[in-house]
Amino acid sequence: MGKEKMRKKEFICIVCPNGCKLTAEVSEESGGSSVNVTGYSCKRGKEYGQTEAVHPVRSVTSTVRVTGGDHPLVPVKTVKEVPKEKIFECMEAIRALSVAAPVHIGQILIRNIAGTGIDLAATGNVKQVQ
Ligand code: SF4
Repeated sequence: MGKEKMRKKEFICIVCPNGCKLTAEVSEESGGSSVNVTGYSCKRGKEYGQTEAVHPVRSVTSTVRVTGGDHPLVPVKTVKEVPKEKIFECMEAIRALSVAAPVHIGQILIRNIAGTGIDLAATGNVKQVQ
């Protein structure tokens, strides 16, 4: 038996402002299921390191065009984090979208964005203008 093949990743924990430097070692043979994280100062950082090493996710925040409103844009955010490799597709869907005023906080503007199973919601209000 040879030495186990490991893939090493170093990154900064973004869960809190401490910004601990994490190192994650992923066993290639395990198909990403075996991850050893070091450098964290708390449990949340350890969990973040494990996810980031094998399946990185991010919330997507942006703005969507609004027609007939008191503001031309409304801020939006995915209601949960989406896989990092889907961010570009999410941004394309957001860019292509235009909604009619009024828009309310929490209103779902795109269901199942980019096939992620996650919705995009407004995080601001835009009033309708006559
Ligand atoms: S490991 Fe814990 S303390 Fe360090 S940055 Fe992450 S969340 Fe903050």
